[in-house]
Amino acid sequence: MEKKIEKKIEKKIEKKIEKKIERKGERGHRASKERGEKRQSLCPVSGKCGGCQYVDMPYKAQLKRKQKQAELLLKEYGRVMPIIGMEEPAHYRNKVHAVFDFQRGKGMVSGIYEQKSHRVVPVDNCLLENQKAGEIIRSVRELAKSFKLKSYDEDSGYGLLRHVLVRVGHSTGEIMVVLVLGSPILPSKKNFVNELCKLHPEITTILVNVNDKKTSMVLGEKEQVIYGKGYIEDELCGRRFKISAKSFYQVNSVQTEALYEKAAEYAQLTGKETVVDAYCGIGTIALAVAGQAGKVIGVELNKDAVRDAVTNAKINQIKNVHFYQNDAGRFLTQMADAGEKVDVVFLDPPRSGSTEEFLDALLCIRPKRVVYISCEPETLARDLKYLTGKSSYRVREITPVDMFPFTGNIEAVCLLSN
Ligand code: SAH
Repeated sequence: MEKKIEKKIEKKIEKKIEKKIERKGERGHRASKERGEKRQSLCPVSGKCGGCQYVDMPYKAQLKRKQKQAELLLKEYGRVMPIIGMEEPAHYRNKVHAVFDFQRGKGMVSGIYEQKSHRVVPVDNCLLENQKAGEIIRSVRELAKSFKLKSYDEDSGYGLLRHVLVRVGHSTGEIMVVLVLGSPILPSKKNFVNELCKLHPEITTILVNVNDKKTSMVLGEKEQVIYGKGYIEDELCGRRFKISAKSFYQVNSVQTEALYEKAAEYAQLTGKETVVDAYCGIGTIALAVAGQAGKVIGVELNKDAVRDAVTNAKINQIKNVHFYQNDAGRFLTQMADAGEKVDVVFLDPPRSGSTEEFLDALLCIRPKRVVYISCEPETLARDLKYLTGKSSYRVREITPVDMFPFTGNIEAVCLLSN
């Protein structure tokens, strides 16, 4: 019953915010109409793509809206600080993906899937994506045409070129291109690589990944390096990181530094603590804070990411960090059962949030501080409710960070202590 009322109130407030924003938009629209201008979206495909809910909203208004949304969901648990925004919000994505298709009258096109469908919308410029990556994708498409490669047809399984994925090291400028094919052989492979590298000498590695499954996943299991070392390196928080094609790496490098800085501030490390970095990916948080801790234990499910994390510790000559490949909930439960002592736990789970298994183990271990990083405030709210409801842990502060400008996504970092 209480929940129903809460939901009703939330909906009401949400509607109010939306109306206010609409009114503002209309005022702007009226003013431009008076000046005889036609209302046009900044992005020609925004209606079909749906990736950027806020594409036509001034950046300040986007931040205001995200602040309100974060407060709406989270302020009952603790103080929500002002959102950390970007100075230059455009083209922040360091990972860019395009899908290929053959369309009548247009030939081979590259772009994105239309919202909730598998229809491909051709895209040449995207406000979110790294511009160099966009140029490379266009070159791959034109080269594919001149090499007479066919785009892969998901329904029939015919054709070859399915997706291309480009990753750019924000501070190193290293670039990885992954050609995702429906079958393992890329005809005239050498010439294709030569031509692509001639057009973009900044490419440092090229891989072929094979994905012949009916799936919405971009990458398949098998991959083969056809140029360079097979991964890129990037620098973050003064550390160097190896990034493989399949490993998770935050897509907005500028804001990742701001996020990690806040997370480290919340952890208040003095150099002696035992720290757990759960859902650690390639070990970025663990390695960023290792210098301020006694020892750090990282746990991550993805094998490639753990392998990268181990290499990353070596690259940075950090010896007080150990990484384990395991389910975070299972791993923490084992630690709790073994009576291990932990002072600070960082957790940065995927959108689905953490699990009761993990949170129960956390409550059993009772670290002094818990720093929860979340890319989905709804599951964060759910987990905070669980933690604060079952223990004396309280949320001390929450800081939203705008990791995904122009989209509706909200990232937040949150400090809990007893
Ligand atoms: N902290 C890292 C990664 C965060 S993304 C960073 O900032 O870069 C979330 C990570 O959780 C991904 O790497 C994903 O592979 C991992 N993951 C997903 N489910 C998991 C589970 N059950 N146990 C451990 N790791 C998991």
